[in-house]
Amino acid sequence: MTCKHMNFAANVAVNRIEDTGRFMADVTVKCIDCGEPFQFIGLEPGLKMNGATVSIDGLEARMAILPNSQAMSPLERMTATKQ
Ligand SMILES: [Zn+2]
Repeated sequence: MTCKHMNFAANVAVNRIEDTGRFMADVTVKCIDCGEPFQFIGLEPGLKMNGATVSIDGLEARMAILPNSQAMSPLERMTATKQ
């Protein structure tokens, strides 16, 4: 019987990139009924310190993150450019 993929497990591994002071959140998702991993769609492979990429097999999203106090939120950027 084909699994309808109704239940999921997600994992986030947060890594601190040595010497750069930057952080990455690596996300994986799989179906816990059949174990099939999910691919992240629409991301380019590689590594971006200011963005999101995907591993070459498509199964791990790698997102650049910063402590809240060290980054402007999209809302703050919008109001800053209007002034
Ligand atoms: Zn499944």
